[in-house]
Amino acid sequence: SVRDELGAYIAKPETFGPDVVVYHNDDFVAIHDMFPKSSLHLLLLPRDQTKTRIHPFDAFEDAEFLTKVKTETRTLRKLAAGELRRKYGKDSAQEQARQAALSADPPPDELPQGRNWEDDIVVGVHAVPSMNHLHVHVLSVDRYSERLKHRKHYNSFSTPFFVPIEDFPLAEDDVRRYPTEEGYLKRDFTCWRCGRGFGNRFAELKQHLEQEFKEWKKL
Ligand code: 5GP
Ligand code: ZN
Repeated sequence: SVRDELGAYIAKPETFGPDVVVYHNDDFVAIHDMFPKSSLHLLLLPRDQTKTRIHPFDAFEDAEFLTKVKTETRTLRKLAAGELRRKYGKDSAQEQARQAALSADPPPDELPQGRNWEDDIVVGVHAVPSMNHLHVHVLSVDRYSERLKHRKHYNSFSTPFFVPIEDFPLAEDDVRRYPTEEGYLKRDFTCWRCGRGFGNRFAELKQHLEQEFKEWKKL
């Protein structure tokens, strides 16, 4: 089934090029999502055979395993942030200020920090995954991609249907354990950045996401 296709990356990561597999080690494989829903969209695949076929909510009940996954997502978040810096660093006002300060003669005692791109990465899982192998999404916040084609694509990353990795372990009575899939995915659209509502007007949302993307890069 197409729902099993992430299994190939876990089984034989070495057979894929660097444009597909970002890195792999004994416990994890990091890949590029084939249908990215943001300008940068990676997936972290744990290789633990006892976990890879079970629901993330159940897999993350194992505290030791959860810690391992959280630690690895911190590594991948840093890597993704570096990628954003390479892609958009030149556009960013904060980075420009830092460069200007660096090249001033004499340079100021205190350099501006520069932008922390890690704040622009979100990490988490879907309450109802469509792919069978355990995977954690690591993506830039922009939700700007030509592959974002359906309303459920946007809402699956922009409502409680998306559960941030930091929120685990989930409390026993956490409502997200019992997702009203229909409810979350069919919600009215809300811009991730400015909070503006778009009802169910997807084309309008998409246009707005492009505007927000341009401004977000230049922040
Ligand atoms: P889910 O909705 O299950 O949390 O997300 C599964 C993700 O896997 C989606 O973002 C989808 O684009 C991605 N995906 C589906 N099939 C493939 C594939 O064959 N290769 C890769 N690299 N990603 C895939
Ligand atoms: Zn907005």
